[in-house]
Amino acid sequence: MGGRYAATHSLPFGNMKLNLVPTTALTREHRLSKRTGKGINGLIGISVFVFVHQYTFRPTFGGLWICFAGILQVKMIARQIYLEYVLVIPGKSIVLIQPRGFCAGVVRAIETVKLALERYGAPIYVFHEIVHNPYVVNDLREKGAIFVDDLDDIPTGAVTIFSAHGVSVNIVDKAKQKQLQIIDATCPLVTKVHLQARKYHAKGCEIIIIGHIGHEEIEGTMGSVPGPVHVILTPEDVDALQIPLDAKVAYVTQTTLSVDDTVDVIKALYKRFPNIQGPNTDDICYATQNRQNAVRQLSKEIDLLLVVGARNSSNSNRLREVGAQFGVLAHLIQDETEIQPDWFNHIDKVAITAATSTPEVLVQRVMTHLENYGLTTVRTMEGVEEKITFTLPKQLAPGV
Ligand code: SF4
Repeated sequence: MGGRYAATHSLPFGNMKLNLVPTTALTREHRLSKRTGKGINGLIGISVFVFVHQYTFRPTFGGLWICFAGILQVKMIARQIYLEYVLVIPGKSIVLIQPRGFCAGVVRAIETVKLALERYGAPIYVFHEIVHNPYVVNDLREKGAIFVDDLDDIPTGAVTIFSAHGVSVNIVDKAKQKQLQIIDATCPLVTKVHLQARKYHAKGCEIIIIGHIGHEEIEGTMGSVPGPVHVILTPEDVDALQIPLDAKVAYVTQTTLSVDDTVDVIKALYKRFPNIQGPNTDDICYATQNRQNAVRQLSKEIDLLLVVGARNSSNSNRLREVGAQFGVLAHLIQDETEIQPDWFNHIDKVAITAATSTPEVLVQRVMTHLENYGLTTVRTMEGVEEKITFTLPKQLAPGV
C-alpha cells in the first residue's frame, strides 16, 4: 500500500508502479519517492537516447529536444490539474515512532528501586508494581525486590518503596504506623495532581477526578483528599453526577489521559458547572501527550500500529485507542511472542511505539521478530526530543 493517499490512476512499471496522486496529498515520503522516480526516469531516458542514437534512426539532437520539450509540456499540464506521479517501490518497512517508551517518572521509579537495593541490600519491598510492565517488575524481582499489594505483607521496619502511581494518605499513615522506612517513588507529576486536589478541597470544592476507576493512580488521588470524590470518564458520566448545580466544584485528571482524551468530558463539565475550577493544561503529563501526538501524526501513513506495552498499563491502552480512532489497524502486544502472522496480510508499513513503562529492549525484540515478515527496512520518525528528568527521592540523592 505504501501509505494512504488517493491515487487516481496506476500504471505498471516493472515490479513497481506509477501512481497519479493529487499534488496536495503528497507526503514527505512521496516526495522522496518522486526523487527516486526522477532518477530512474533520467537513467531510462539516457539509455533510450543512446540506444536510439546508436542502432536505429540516428535522429538529430534537435528532434530529440522537441520530444523532450513535449514531455515537459505534458508534465506541466499535469501539474496544473494538480496531479503528480509517485513511484511506488514495493517493500515492507517499519517506522519507529518517536518519542516512545520510558518517561522521566518511570526512569526515576526504576532507578529508585535499583539504588535502594544497592544501598540497603535485598530484600526491598515495593508497594504495587513499581510501573506497569511485567518485564521491568520481573527484572527487579530477580534483583531482590518483593512486590506486595498489601502493607500487611511487609515486615515491620522494612524499607518500602511506593510505586510511580502514588498512594493515598491512608496508606502513608498505615506505613508510618508499621514504622516502615518509606521511599516515595511517586512520579512528581502525580504528586502535583494530589496537591492540586487537596488545594481545591481546602477551598471547599467537591472534587471530580477524570480517570479510570480502579487504576492505582486514581485510588491514590481519591485517597489524597479527605472527603468524597467523584470519578468520571465520559461526558455521559457528567450528567449522572449527584452534585447540586450551585455547588463549588473542581476537577483534576489522571496523568495518563492526554488533553485530547479529556476534552469532551471537560466541555461537558463546564456546560453543567460554568464556574468549575480546573488545572492549567500545562499540568498534563508531557510524556502521555507527546506519545499520543506522535501516533496521531503518523497514523495517516501507516497500515498497522503495534503498541508494545502491558495490558494493565493505561498509557499502552490509550496509544492503541488513538491509532484505532484514526482508522489504523492497531494491536497492543506485551512482547514479540504475541504477534500473529495474519496481521501482515496486505500490510506494507508498520509503525511501532511503546508505552511510558515499556523498556526499549522489548521494542528491539519486536523489530527483530518482524524480520520474519520481510520487514527489514527501518526508519525512525523525527519526533519531539524529551529532555525532562526528575530528581531522585531525597533518601537516595547523591551524597546522602
Ligand atoms: S506517564 Fe507521566 S505521570 Fe506517569 S510516570 Fe510518566 S511522567 Fe509521570
